[in-house]
Amino acid sequence: MSDATATDANSADGSIPASAAPGSAALVLLSGGQDSAVCLAWALGRYARVETIGFDYGQRHRVELAARPMVRERVAALRADWHARLGEDHMVTLPELARISDTALTRDAEIKMTAAGLPSTFVPGRNLLFLTYAAAIAYRRSIGVLVGGMCETDYSGYPDCRNDTLQTLARAISLGMDRTMTILTPLMAIDKAGTWAMAETLGGRALVDLIVEDTHTCYLGDRSQRHAWGYGCGTCPACDLRAKGWDVWQGGPAPVNP
Ligand code: ZN
Repeated sequence: MSDATATDANSADGSIPASAAPGSAALVLLSGGQDSAVCLAWALGRYARVETIGFDYGQRHRVELAARPMVRERVAALRADWHARLGEDHMVTLPELARISDTALTRDAEIKMTAAGLPSTFVPGRNLLFLTYAAAIAYRRSIGVLVGGMCETDYSGYPDCRNDTLQTLARAISLGMDRTMTILTPLMAIDKAGTWAMAETLGGRALVDLIVEDTHTCYLGDRSQRHAWGYGCGTCPACDLRAKGWDVWQGGPAPVNP
């Protein structure tokens, strides 16, 4: 049996890639939103080959999915070496996830806090499913690193964004596939202000501008209102986080450790 237990390559806070060796490959979970765009830039700066994966699970709005190919190409185009490293894109369609979920993201329901203290946008275990599908594709592509934008600082109560959850999943996947699969989450320990700062550190103002213009985060799919931080309704929980992070970042340097 191979060493399928050495999956805790993240540091204690889940952010530092001890195993991010040059010459290796990574698969980035890319949604078309702000966080995954920063993760793509982060991976392109570290891995010789970077592939991407996206999931169509019947999202109520299609804006983020529509933004995805443009975000992917434009982030890579910021630097010649990044462009050379960008590999294949994989789209996975998960209609069953929409069918079995009863949430505001996939049904025309109001976004509010549930009795369990979670936003009604929560699709139970969504990241567990996404990462397991990603691992199956990574295995086939001889990739041992999955990169995701999960964050437990601004995680809105999503338990599948916690570092403990993700590192335990990495261990289960590694055991189940008999191959070490590492899950890296560069944004785990920083807040949204830190994500904006990390974007500037990784790709300069050009990456910040790209994220403002091309990525999409708003739960309502609103592209009609342009704010300093990008497009969105300005009031849903996702817009609120993105806007507040922008304001804090604009107000002064935020801690960043890309
Ligand atoms: Zn919004």
